Amino acid sequence: MTTTEPKPAAPYQRIATEEAFAPAEMLNIYRKILAKSDVDPGFQGLMGFYMSSPSARAQHIMRCLQDLDQVRLQHMDEAGIDRQVIALTAPGVQVMDKETAVAFSRVANDELAEAVRRHPTRFTGMIAVAPQDPAAAALEIERGVTRLGMNAVIINSHTQGEYLSDSKFWDIFAAAEAHDVPIYLHPNSLPKNMIGSFQDCGLDGAIYGFGVETGLHALRIITAGVFDRFPKLQLIIGHMGEALPFWAYRLDYMHRATVLSNRYESIKPLLKKPSDYLRENFFITNSGVAWEPAIKFTQDIVGVDRVMYAMDYPYQYAADEVTAMDNMAMSAEVKKKFFQTNAESVFKIKTT
Ligand code: MN
Repeated sequence: MTTTEPKPAAPYQRIATEEAFAPAEMLNIYRKILAKSDVDPGFQGLMGFYMSSPSARAQHIMRCLQDLDQVRLQHMDEAGIDRQVIALTAPGVQVMDKETAVAFSRVANDELAEAVRRHPTRFTGMIAVAPQDPAAAALEIERGVTRLGMNAVIINSHTQGEYLSDSKFWDIFAAAEAHDVPIYLHPNSLPKNMIGSFQDCGLDGAIYGFGVETGLHALRIITAGVFDRFPKLQLIIGHMGEALPFWAYRLDYMHRATVLSNRYESIKPLLKKPSDYLRENFFITNSGVAWEPAIKFTQDIVGVDRVMYAMDYPYQYAADEVTAMDNMAMSAEVKKKFFQTNAESVFKIKTT
């Protein structure tokens, strides 16, 4: 932050849709996992870094992550963020053993719901689930919607190297579709079998690896036929769609070519083209990508009703990026969709 002057109001609410928190109790669980001799290298590289680094950036992020009150609200005011849509930070419960993950997802959801009750005009929550136990995750989605008033689910990409394209996880998709709530597929650190050639050059994190792995996960879900099975299911992906809109043309061409040549058992015919699912089953946020050409290109590909604003607080907390987004050469109507009304619709945010 270069200024503490509150940003002036805009002719729209600024709703940031991929904002993170970390309860202190979760960090205690993480410390125990990090102390084990066989700790996952991606988790070690991500939370192991943030939780132990003396750097000002890491210390600041850890402080902001744990706050669901004055620190966060002050930063929101300074950046002009009217509302945050908040989710348990990556990797959430997905790095834990099954029993701990199921139990702690409930604790985290209760804590977030309580923060939303304290600040109902500023915070909206997403439901954390443990994919390690798909039946329990489905029940937690139901509890989150019906008891806690939350209308979206957060899943931090792969779960210990396993992907939601595996039908053993599809109770989660069935529950999300039945309760009409989207799943935000957020990045995780790279799985063990993938991280090597990213980490040895320092490109495993948000700089590149996260986008590659989460984009791969979204594509695996598409090519596995999940949206033919669950046609109303909606996913949200950040970071300008993890570059998938830019890939759309080649994905369509090569998916069709691969199906026609019977090259892989796992690439079966789909009812639609890969890009059709991007347009009909995905919302895309610009988290971490405050870049007008990429936003407009994505609006062109998936439509102005499917692209939303996100800051990625506290990892990328930058008020000047909000100004850049305010200043985009875009009609007032479309800009309001981007900042406000698409998010209100997707997360069922009640306005007075
Ligand atoms: Mn994020």
